[in-house]
Amino acid sequence: MSPFSMELGEDQLAVRDWLHGFAADVMRPAAAEWDEREETPWPIIQEAAKIGIYSLDFYAQQYFDPSGVGIPVAMEELFWGDAGLGLSIVGTTLAAVAVLANGTDEQIGTWAPQMFGTPDDVKVAAFCSSEPDAGSDVSALRTRAVYDQAKDEWVLNGTKTWATNGGIAAVHVVVATVDPALGARGQASFVVPPGTAGLSQGQKFKKHGIRASHTAEVVLDDVRVPGHCLLGGKEKLDERLARARERAAGTAAGRGSGGGAPGRNAAMATFEASRPAVGAQAVGIARAAYEVALDYARTRVQFGRPIIDNQGVAFTLADMRTRIDAARLLVWRASWMAANQQPFTAAEGSMSKLYAGETAKWVTSQAMQLLGGNGFTREYPVERMHRDSAIYTIFEGTSEIQRLVIARTISGLPIR
Ligand SMILES: Cc1cc2nc3c(=O)[nH]c(=O)nc-3n(C[C@H](O)[C@H](O)[C@H](O)COP(=O)(O)OP(=O)(O)OC[C@H]3O[C@@H](n4cnc5c(N)ncnc54)[C@H](O)[C@@H]3O)c2cc1C
Repeated sequence: MSPFSMELGEDQLAVRDWLHGFAADVMRPAAAEWDEREETPWPIIQEAAKIGIYSLDFYAQQYFDPSGVGIPVAMEELFWGDAGLGLSIVGTTLAAVAVLANGTDEQIGTWAPQMFGTPDDVKVAAFCSSEPDAGSDVSALRTRAVYDQAKDEWVLNGTKTWATNGGIAAVHVVVATVDPALGARGQASFVVPPGTAGLSQGQKFKKHGIRASHTAEVVLDDVRVPGHCLLGGKEKLDERLARARERAAGTAAGRGSGGGAPGRNAAMATFEASRPAVGAQAVGIARAAYEVALDYARTRVQFGRPIIDNQGVAFTLADMRTRIDAARLLVWRASWMAANQQPFTAAEGSMSKLYAGETAKWVTSQAMQLLGGNGFTREYPVERMHRDSAIYTIFEGTSEIQRLVIARTISGLPIR
């Protein structure tokens, strides 16, 4: 087991500084333009690919860093640069993590490289779980996957919504219901390979923040994928479904229920692995806004002195910094635990995402206040950071759902 440490090694520091340079020199100057354009920033993704930041190798290296902090350090720096551009660069990793969490070694080797493409021909990937009637309640998915044994193909039908990179992705990972009677336990994840007939983009959403990141509906109309596109394979799925049916029959007969503990399913496996990383993105946004606010408070003069000379202002900055550092500690702890196979006995992954998301929203709103009228304009970046931060209490599980997961985990009770 790698010991938990707050000190970065030489290699980790070098990666952090390299990412910081990209964030400062390439992302920051382009952030406002892509926010206004509300389009996928392909040139920025390409630039990230050319220098190796947008690549499977880079993320795999960070993901398998035994200290656990490779991914959070990378996320914090990129999102310090800009959240909309950051999500455009790292959105693919959510789909990659889904394959990593649920797929066989062969499936990982086949699909993960196709998600990123090459520096000369960059691709993105999408993870499609949410549906119009199944957001927080992932057990309510209606998208169906039916096995066509004669052709060894799966047939997918349904409508996905809110998919980051949905419709513009080369590879889509789709969570679908194989046995609706089993709820969350009857679901599985499927890879939809590039160019598969029947998959199309529905409406693209116009958003409050992270506007450079593409978010859209994905319509699946008799989408046929080969049997080997079922992540984890059919044998494993059949075993899992058989266990779930036995359990359901046992529960129906009154032989001990599961006590309402949240069911582990394909979508949850992906979210569990990605929550601390999402928390780290929120830490990056918060740190960026705090730095702008600190700088502004030192230089803005009112009543003959810098506004930071007022305790009311200085204490706000003290609280901002304290909460950011606390959020980073929670994120690093959860990432270290995940990398070292320590079970999340108090939902530490959810805790980190909850606290970091709420912190980003609070810090960016305080930063706007400290900048006064300037904070409210697009001349200064905190207005954009505030809009961007708002998603961090919504996606990858809302703050309420994180609290629900934590409450259930620490109490062992089926809190509703
Ligand atoms: C920009 C963006 C990008 C996204 N990217 C993806 C993606 O790539 N892939 C993907 O699959 N999804 C994605 N999502 C979907 C996202 O995960 C969902 O929006 C989120 O899970 C909430 O679901 P919902 O919007 O249906 O809200 P709802 O579930 O309808 O929730 C509405 C409100 O009710 C509250 N609530 C619901 N249930 C409870 C409860 N039991 N107790 C207390 N409060 C409750 C919620 O906290 C929330 O405040 C994205 C969303 C956005 C906006």
